[in-house]
Amino acid sequence: MPNGPLLLSSIGVSRLIWIEARNVSSCSHNTVFSVNVYTVIILAALVAESVISVVSDLLTLRNQPDTVPDEFADTFDEEEYDKALDYNRTKTRFGLVSSAFALVLLLGFWFAGGFEWLDTIVRGWGFGPIVTGLFYIGLLVLGRGVLSLPFSVYSTFVIEERFGFNETTPKTFVLDLLKSLALGIAIGGPILAAILWFFESTGPYGWIYAWIAVTAVMLLLQFFAPRYLMPLFNDFEPLEKGGLRDAILSYADQVDFPVNEIYVMDGSRRSNKANAFFTGFGSNRRIVLFDTLVEELDNDELLSVVAHEMGHYKLNHIPQRIAISIVQTGVLFLLLSVFLQVDALFSAFYVDQPAVYTGLLFFGLLYSPVDLLLSIPLNAWSRRHEFQADRYAVNTTQQDGALVGGLKRLAETNLSTLAPHPLTVALDYSHPPLLDRIEAIRAA
Ligand SMILES: [Zn+2]
Repeated sequence: MPNGPLLLSSIGVSRLIWIEARNVSSCSHNTVFSVNVYTVIILAALVAESVISVVSDLLTLRNQPDTVPDEFADTFDEEEYDKALDYNRTKTRFGLVSSAFALVLLLGFWFAGGFEWLDTIVRGWGFGPIVTGLFYIGLLVLGRGVLSLPFSVYSTFVIEERFGFNETTPKTFVLDLLKSLALGIAIGGPILAAILWFFESTGPYGWIYAWIAVTAVMLLLQFFAPRYLMPLFNDFEPLEKGGLRDAILSYADQVDFPVNEIYVMDGSRRSNKANAFFTGFGSNRRIVLFDTLVEELDNDELLSVVAHEMGHYKLNHIPQRIAISIVQTGVLFLLLSVFLQVDALFSAFYVDQPAVYTGLLFFGLLYSPVDLLLSIPLNAWSRRHEFQADRYAVNTTQQDGALVGGLKRLAETNLSTLAPHPLTVALDYSHPPLLDRIEAIRAA
């Protein structure tokens, strides 16, 4: 393992820094707010992450032209364009408020000693380390979910409603919550228990076993989710017989795509926004069109969208994405195993007794800023795949106009941001901005 010595030496260095920091802070009389160097690093990383996101959001808001860009003159009228600007401004402001709230909540809980407080309570129940860990993490996840619920209600029933997107009834909203909770417990619970057990009981190579177990579950979910999990939230009907279905099947035949079925999903159950996606693999792979998309686009445009999705399959993008996430999971577990050895990281969160479950949680917190950095190359890679799938669709259908038309109509239906700032694109965009896509399609 080429990284071994490097990682070990960096832990050695961190230990030294920690010992020095502790010596310095031992002079102070403030025991509650004693600060170790990891506190400073993690805090700085979390704050930096927020600042970068805020700056990116504000840059994108400022980047929007006041009037409809020429390319979209045939798609948006002025009124619609103003509506799109207003929608994106409203959503961005709301996002800023809700992430500020989440950050303040986290920092408040952290510096008030909340992690140690909950640990003392849960340990007091006298269960073994794995059940204790399940309760500890479960309660925190549940607590965060409850506190973020008002934001989710506001977003769906106020913002999306005001702009005419929302179709979610309160009943669907509540059922979605309950189903997600049940799935979280039924699937997340055992996975979490397995990870805790491997790290707790299988020695220094626990991270490898955890990696294998999580990878196996991830692959099984990829296989089973389209058939067994996604139908819990939506209805999937085979595309009805007729011109569109015939055109898609004959196109699939022409490009040698082993189609089993094209599905239409009742996306309109929750929102008027439109989309299409490709999911699963093996006999459970599916091309799914939202019913809203079928309604908005004409048959040529729909065929182009389907060709784009088949392009992802033909160009082997799916196995590449799966491979990357398997590698990412492995690196994560390796880093976690290193993290768990450093007692100072637990003191940084004011937790007295190190445990695998608290380590896992703190590692997750520290990982969020790292994830922001990692997402830059990963998003760039994904955007390249999108360009490739677009080119594939144009080359195989011989219709660049239909794909451009379909993409524009999607932007209009979804009131998309037309001119995201390059920083926002780098951080958040798994798909290229529409204008870039259209330009690339025309150049193909
Ligand atoms: Zn795509």
